[in-house]
Amino acid sequence: MKYNRRKFIGLSALGLPFLAAPKNFGHALYQPEITKENAPIVIATWDFGVAANAAAWKVLKEGGLALDAVEQGVRVPEADPTNPTVGIGGYPDRDGKVTLDACIMDHLGNCGSVAGLEHVVHAISVARKVMEKTPHVMLVGDGALQFAMEEGFKKENLLTAESEKEWKKWLKTAQYKPIINIENKAFAPKRLPGNKFNHDTIGMLALDANGNLSGACTTSGMAFKMHGRVGDSPIIGAGLYVDNEIGGATSTGVGEEVIRNVGSFLVVELMRQGYSPEEACKEAVMRIIRKKPETAKEIQVGFLALNKKGQYGAYAIQKGFSFAVCHTENQKLVVKGNSYYG
Ligand code: ASP
Repeated sequence: MKYNRRKFIGLSALGLPFLAAPKNFGHALYQPEITKENAPIVIATWDFGVAANAAAWKVLKEGGLALDAVEQGVRVPEADPTNPTVGIGGYPDRDGKVTLDACIMDHLGNCGSVAGLEHVVHAISVARKVMEKTPHVMLVGDGALQFAMEEGFKKENLLTAESEKEWKKWLKTAQYKPIINIENKAFAPKRLPGNKFNHDTIGMLALDANGNLSGACTTSGMAFKMHGRVGDSPIIGAGLYVDNEIGGATSTGVGEEVIRNVGSFLVVELMRQGYSPEEACKEAVMRIIRKKPETAKEIQVGFLALNKKGQYGAYAIQKGFSFAVCHTENQKLVVKGNSYYG
């Protein structure tokens, strides 16, 4: 990157600023090295990323598009009723409604998103349709559902018996008002062993054999959130960002803090400045910690990043954040992310 920048400055110095600065300035100048060793590759948040990566890998190993890979990948946890944080079986909001947030972004900078979507398992596929079939980026609530119905998605009940049981249990003690971090304190880990927080997201980033990046992010959000609450996951720049020139990033954890810091965009911009994926994730986490040290002690936020060379990294506030990596040599790698606490 630095080399290319010098090259640009050099050409400008020769009195050729117009020749040296084509319209798509960055794209023309940044020439990443892509080798067989690091593309294709797919990475995803948490241990459940392993199964999701396997579906994405089927697309990537055939030379398919990163965009198709990430969509197919995250559909796996969306369809898993035993996963209480994504898709069907996700814990509902305080009113007992399962509302999903998702977004997708491709190598051309196209993106689509849905927030507060009810009754449709594959929020990510609705988000892709928003991207491909509408002039908009984001559809929410009833409008998102209406669009999904028009596109032929099946309407179904996303509240499983297990999730309903947990919600009713929560109702016994919960006050009907937002309580910061109540999700963290109210529950022992039940359905996600090893995870002390009652909320998660699948965020996935893929680099395909052609060296193109895409990302997807999908969640049922914070358990027992207020009805209408939207987290970071469907917000481009917060829960997910992809810049095909540099890399991609995604996040998991308390979405409000990620939104406040435009987390995933920040990670990508830090990689643009030369940070490694892990360093970039760490700096984004540090912004959250520095701004609200007391809050940060009590919450989890993790970032995951993949750069254009296929290098990856992650960093979280709390220990326990894992991510899954899948590439030619190892399709089931689970990496324990580094963290500020622990
Ligand atoms: N980021 C998600 C949200 O705030 C939850 C999570 O990933 O833990 O909705």
